[in-house]
Formats: sequence, structure tokens, C-alpha cells
Amino acid sequence: MSKPIRHVVIAGGGTAGWMTAALLKKVLGNSVSIELVESEQIGIVGVGEATIPPIQIFNRFLGIDEKAFLRETNGTIKLAIKFENWRVPGESYFHTFGGPGTTMGFCSFHHYWLKAQQAGLTDSFWDFDLNYLACLEEKFNKINTQNPLYDMPYAYHFDSALYGQFLRKQAEQNGVKRTEGIIEHVQQNEQSGFITGIQLNDGRQIRGDFFIDCTGLSGLLIRQTLGVNYEDWSHWLPADSAQAVPSERHAETLPYTRSIAHPVGWQWRIPLTHRNGNGIVYSSQYLTDEQATETLMNNLDSRAIDEPRTIRFKTGRTAQQWCKNVVAIGLSSGFLEPLESTSIHLIQSGIIRLMKMFPNQGISQAMIELYNAESKDEFETIRDFIILHYHVNEREDSAFWRDMRNLSLPTRLEQKIAAFKEAAAIFNEQSDIFRDASWVQVMMGQGLTPCDYHPAADTMETSSLLDAMRQIHQAKQQPLSKLMAHDEFIQRYTAT
Ligand SMILES: Cc1cc2nc3c(=O)[nH]c(=O)nc-3n(C[C@H](O)[C@H](O)[C@H](O)COP(=O)(O)OP(=O)(O)OC[C@H]3O[C@@H](n4cnc5c(N)ncnc54)[C@H](O)[C@@H]3O)c2cc1C
Repeated sequence: MSKPIRHVVIAGGGTAGWMTAALLKKVLGNSVSIELVESEQIGIVGVGEATIPPIQIFNRFLGIDEKAFLRETNGTIKLAIKFENWRVPGESYFHTFGGPGTTMGFCSFHHYWLKAQQAGLTDSFWDFDLNYLACLEEKFNKINTQNPLYDMPYAYHFDSALYGQFLRKQAEQNGVKRTEGIIEHVQQNEQSGFITGIQLNDGRQIRGDFFIDCTGLSGLLIRQTLGVNYEDWSHWLPADSAQAVPSERHAETLPYTRSIAHPVGWQWRIPLTHRNGNGIVYSSQYLTDEQATETLMNNLDSRAIDEPRTIRFKTGRTAQQWCKNVVAIGLSSGFLEPLESTSIHLIQSGIIRLMKMFPNQGISQAMIELYNAESKDEFETIRDFIILHYHVNEREDSAFWRDMRNLSLPTRLEQKIAAFKEAAAIFNEQSDIFRDASWVQVMMGQGLTPCDYHPAADTMETSSLLDAMRQIHQAKQQPLSKLMAHDEFIQRYTAT
């Protein structure tokens, strides 16, 4: 056990730094002082625009007004990701946040749908999903209803740099101290190795009891100073480069992200209110930077408004995300490509985990181990979900896709795929932020067809099942008339 924690230093002021500062201050109030050090000269990674629904909980906890948030971050609504060309070129499917169907009995909806399909149902799995139907019509509205059939979970697309600034305002108003400067040295206690302070390049010293490393991909405190290893996952996820470029906004913005697979790698298209975010993720083993630039620029659907910017990364995680008196949050804790928009969520869950275990009276090894075990599980389940997209492909147009199909898989993922193929079964780990509906959409969307469904679905007479399916289908379509064009929603909603 170390000494009580009274002064927390956050190193780094990107999205991770300011999300951490805002939440810590909100939760801990004046019981600790919080100082954030950042360098405008070094800057932030400056990409990252798509999120998943739990961000609403984070914003609500901070008391953020959704309208002001959307206005200030140039935000739009995200109902789903449309995956294009992932199984084979020319085909697409949606991974929606709603999830098709509804609760019907012991097992998940997809088992009943599989049985109904065998009995002649022609509606696709996604026809039972309001998020999907709204995406097709490019519409959204906040439907005020308690009926779970009309649930339409959503997240946001936004400019993450502006989100950081939005949170900075709140954090500073609440008493977080911001210090501008470049961290040059990190000081450690000779015996314990605990970090005692940081020194800026103009000689200023900042001392603290507890340090949060939000320095981005460099992991200045956790890896460079404490020497924690990086678990390299590039043998499973070989993409090591991205190029990002903004382009002019569309006349009409879509309420979903597009993820478009290319012969090597994939491209994102994210609609914001002032511009589109675009980028390509690829592996330098298979594609040169010049080829990547060409692919990206030839596949923009509006005029580029800047030069493409290259970002290098190594997929993996910092092996101990809490070591001594340092916790790594954000890109310093690991990197997973943005295929399922999970990095900002990992920031959120890291901060919440830390808040639950905040070492007020001092750090104990038990806390560190629990924190690290949970973080590891969370990173690994997301990793497996991302590998799934690559592995389950039938593309024949390049060595890249053939190699991705033939990679050996983490055991847990191999088991999950086998269980789904055999019995449409989905095993959810507690740490998995993606529930049954997400796994099923990606597996079925990419062509995995289960051999069987759960016997519980057979307890329903076929005719009653088909009737129930008809009713659900109709019910899911009912709210569509209450939706409006996505842009109209954003304009009206943020105008008030
Ligand atoms: C190509 C790409 C696309 C992405 N897309 C998404 C997405 O769609 N959705 C999503 O959720 N996430 C996405 N991410 C991840 C997302 O961008 C990051 O999780 C998020 O921006 C947080 O970054 P960060 O704050 O950890 O690091 P950074 O933004 O790099 O911030 C690091 C901070 O540390 C400071 N710093 C570093 N060294 C020093 C020093 N020596 N002295 C002082 N200050 C220092 C910097 O000045 C900066 O303030 C994407 C990432 C990449 C690379």
C-alpha cells in the first residue's frame, strides 16, 4: 500500500486526457487535485470520429446537454456500420446497434428466425430491425416510447478533437488545472520505481501521487518509463498503417458509418455536419503507402479538403495497463483498428474501471491485478470480434484476403465460430461489450450459416411462429413514419 492519493497528474490532452480529466473531477470533486499536462507543439492523433452507444451514458453522467454536444462537435447520429465488400466484392450487410427482432422465449431471436426461414419465411434477418430500416431510409428521430420493439439505440459521429475541447471547457470550469509544456524527464523513486514527478522542457517540475498516461501511441510513462511490455497482436491483425483525409460534406448525411473493404485493407466514411471523415487501414506488408493513397483518393465520394495524413501503429495492448502508480488510458493502453469504433469506448471503460477502484488511501497490488485482468479481457474480446470480420471472408481477389482467411485464430474465437456454425450458439463473456445480436449480424452478414438452431424454437408451432414473425415485422415498420431525414433531425434538434 502506497500513500493516500491527493494529487493526480494526467499526462496528455487528447480525447483520452480530457475524457479522463472531466470524469475524474466530476466523480472525485475536490477530494483530489487534478493537473493535466499537454503540448500543443506535439499535438494529438486527431482522428477518431465514430462511437458506440455507451458514450451516451458517459455524456449523461457528465451532465452534458446532447444538443450542445452535437452542435459543438459537428456531430451526427450513428445507428449502424454498413460493411461493404467484406464477404465478397459487391455484397454488403449492416451491423446495427439495435439488433434484429425482440425477446421471444428462452433463446435469442435469431434461433426463431432460422426456424421460420426453414418454414418458408423470406424476410431477411435485418428486416426485423428498426435501426436497419431507418438506415435504409436515411432517417432518424428520438421516439418517445416505452415499447422495446421501438428501441433504436444510437451513438454519434463527431470530431474527436472538438469533443476533447468540449470536455476541456467543462473540466477547467470544474477546477482541473491545465499546464502547457513538453514532458522531457519522468522522475521515479529509486527504491519503488513509482513515478514522483515530471519535468517539462523549460525546467518546470510537476509532482504527483498518481499518474494517468494519456500520451497516446508513445506510452511515455507506462512503456517508455516503467518499461511495461507491449503485447503485439499483429500476427492476427497485420494492418499497421492508416491514412486519413477529410472531404467535403455530402448534401445529405447518412446516419451510419460505411466500412468498405478493398483488395487490400478497408476504408471508412464518416459523415459529420461540416465534412466527411475518410481513411484507409492497410498492412504495409501488402500495400505501399503510395498504393494506399491512390486507393483512398480514388474512392472518395466528395472532394478532398486536405492532404492525406499517414498514421503508423502496432495492433496490441500494453501488457499491464496499471503498473505501480501509473494507469494507461487511451492509445497508450493499446491499439485496435477502428473497424468497430471501439477506442473511445475503451477510454470510457478504462476511466470507469479506475473510478470504481480508485486508490484513495493508497495503491494495493490486489487493485492493480483486478484492474489489469478486466482490461485484458475487454481488449481481447474486442480483438476477437475484429479478427472475425477479416477471417470470415470469401474474397479471392488478393493474397491479403486469402491470408486473413487462413490465419490461425485465438482459441476462444475459434470456439465461438464453431459453436455458431454447429448450433447458432453465441457465448458471451461478461467483459464483451458486443452482445449476441452483434456477433450474429457479423457472422451471418459474412456468410456463416448455422447447421441448426436451438430446440427451444421448436416449442412454437410453425404457424404461430410465422404469425409472430409477421407481427414483429409490421411492428418494426410502424415507427418509420415518425422519423425524419437525418439532416432535418440534426438541424431541428440542434437549433433549439
Ligand atoms: C486511424 C485512426 C482512426 C481512428 N478512428 C477511431 C474511431 O472511429 N472511433 C474511435 O473510438 N477511435 C478511433 N481511433 C482512436 C482514437 O483516435 C483515440 O482513441 C483517441 O483519439 C484518443 O487518443 P489519445 O488521447 O490516447 O492520444 P492522442 O490524441 O495522441 O493524445 C496524446 C496527448 O499526449 C500529449 N503528449 C504526448 N507526448 C507528450 C510529451 N512528451 N509532453 C507533453 N504532452 C505529450 C499530446 O500533446 C496529446 O495531447 C482512431 C485512431 C486511429 C489511429
